[in-house]
Amino acid sequence: MSSGPPDSLTRRQSHFQGVRMAHIVVIGAGIVGSFASMVLAQEGHRVTLLERDPVGREALESRQGVKQYEQTHILMPGGARILDQETPDAVRRILDAGGRSHDMLAGVWAAGTVGPRRPGDEQYETYAARRPVLEAALQGAATATGGVTLRAGSRVRALLTGEPRVVGRPHVTGVVTDDGTRIEADLVVDASGRRTELPAMLERLGATPLVHREETGFRYYSRFFRADDRGLPVSRYWPLTHHDSVSVITAPGDGDHWSVTLVTSGRDQALRRLSDPGVWDAVLALYPEAAHWAEGVPDGDVRVMGGTGTTHRRWVSDGEPLVTGLVAVGDAHMTLNPQFGMGMTAGLGQAQVLRDVVRRTGLGDPADLMLALDSELEERYWPMWNDGDTWDRHRLAEIDAEIRGESYATDDPAWVLRTALDTAATLDADVVRGFGRVASQLASAEEALIKPGLVQRIVELATGRPRYAQGAPDRAVLLETVGRLA
Ligand SMILES: Cc1cc2nc3c(=O)[nH]c(=O)nc-3n(C[C@H](O)[C@H](O)[C@H](O)COP(=O)(O)OP(=O)(O)OC[C@H]3O[C@@H](n4cnc5c(N)ncnc54)[C@H](O)[C@@H]3O)c2cc1C
Repeated sequence: MSSGPPDSLTRRQSHFQGVRMAHIVVIGAGIVGSFASMVLAQEGHRVTLLERDPVGREALESRQGVKQYEQTHILMPGGARILDQETPDAVRRILDAGGRSHDMLAGVWAAGTVGPRRPGDEQYETYAARRPVLEAALQGAATATGGVTLRAGSRVRALLTGEPRVVGRPHVTGVVTDDGTRIEADLVVDASGRRTELPAMLERLGATPLVHREETGFRYYSRFFRADDRGLPVSRYWPLTHHDSVSVITAPGDGDHWSVTLVTSGRDQALRRLSDPGVWDAVLALYPEAAHWAEGVPDGDVRVMGGTGTTHRRWVSDGEPLVTGLVAVGDAHMTLNPQFGMGMTAGLGQAQVLRDVVRRTGLGDPADLMLALDSELEERYWPMWNDGDTWDRHRLAEIDAEIRGESYATDDPAWVLRTALDTAATLDADVVRGFGRVASQLASAEEALIKPGLVQRIVELATGRPRYAQGAPDRAVLLETVGRLA
C-alpha cells in the first residue's frame, strides 16, 4: 500500500486548493468506509482510508476488526441500486468474483400464488455474495479510485485536536495510528463499525454522544454450504421467517455457496446447543420450508455470534455539535438488528448523505457541516432505528413468553401491524410488492405500505390466520430435539 504524502503537505494542499481538494481521513475499510472513500474521492477530495486489519480476500479467513465477517450477509436491493449508481466498478468486481444476480421475490413468483413477475419487478434483484466477497470488491474498487490511498494495518488509536470551532467542544484535526503516525485532515470520518473505539477517544476529550441502546439482541447460528449434484436450493418466499422462539434466514451467496442462520434470543440458554453441528442440522430439518437449504456440502462448523444489541449515536444535542471535524457513518453511527439485512444498505445510504452534505456545505464551517449532517441522518435513519428497536423489544418479549410457554400479547399497533404483515406478505400481489419494497430498502413503510386500502387489506388477510406458518416446530419439539442429541 502506498503511504501517501507527509501530513504537513496534505494540510497545506487542502488550504491552497480550497474545499474541492480537502483531505479526508476515513477510519475503517469495511463495507461503508470503502464506499464512503470512493464517493468522497469522486467529488475531488483526497481520501486516506485507514484499516486496522490486512486487506484482500485471500489474506483473510476471519477479521479481528469485524466480528460478523464470517456471518450470513445479504445485500438488499436498495444497497445494490446504490452501488449500481455510485460505484459500478465495485459491482463489476462482485460479479467477477462469482456474485450472482438474485431476485429476492423469486420464491413468490415461482409459487404462483400472486401471479407472475411483471415489468418493474427487476427492482427486487440484488447481488448475492458472501460478505468477504462483497467487502473485497469494495476495497478493490476503492484502491483503484483516483484520490483514495488505502493504508492497511493502520489502527487509529488517538485523535488530534485543534482550536475549538464551537466553544467548549473538541475540534478534531486528524488521527494518530498505532505506529505513532500523525495524519492531519480537514474531516475525519468514523466508519470503524459496531465496535468503534472513537466514542471512547472522544469521551477522553470531553465529548459524549447521545446514545440509544438495546443491549440484549439476538444470537446467530450460521452454517455455510456448497452445492453438490443437487444444485442450488430453491428460494423461499423471503429469506427471513419467524417461528416459535426461532427465526430462520436462508441466504444465497456467490457461485455455488449459500448459508442458513438460526436466530434465537440472546437470552435463550436452552438453544445454545445449536452451536453443535449435529443439533443445528436436526433443528433445521424440523422446518419444512427451509430444510432443503441443508442439501449441500457443509463448509465448516456452526458460526456463532451473540452480543448483537443495537446502538444509535448522535453527535448533536440541543442544536449544538458535541464535536466538530469528526462524523460517523455506517455501524459507527447506528447498528440495526442484523436479521433484516439492512446494515450495509443503511450505511451506504448514510455515506451518500455525507457526500451530499459535504458537497452542499463544504468543509469551511465544521459546525455547519455537523448540524446539516445530523439533521439529514436523523430525518432518514432515526425512524429506521427506532422502528427496529420497537420490533426488537417486542420480538424479544415474544420469545421470552414462548420460553415460559405463554403466548405474547400486546396492543401496540406497530407490533400488531408488523406481525399481520409477516402473515399477509405473500398472499396478495400488491401487499407482496409493498412488503418487498420496504424490506429491500427501496422505499419507506410510509411510501410503500401505510396506505389506506393496503393496511386494511393486510389486517384482513392476517385475521384468523395463525402467527406462525403451519408445520414448523413449537418450543416443546425444539427442546425435545435438542435434549435428545445432548
Ligand atoms: C450477525 C450479523 C449479520 C449481518 N447480516 C447482514 C446482512 O445480511 N445484510 C446487511 O446489510 N448487513 C448485515 N449485517 C450488518 C453489517 O455487517 C454492517 O452493517 C456492516 O458491516 C457495516 O459496515 P461498516 O463499514 O460500517 O462497518 P464494518 O463492516 O464493521 O467495518 C469497520 C472497519 O473498521 C475497521 N476498524 C475498526 N476499528 C478501527 C480502527 N481503530 N482503526 C482502523 N480501522 C478500524 C475494521 O477492521 C473494519 O474493517 C450483519 C451484522 C451482523 C452482526
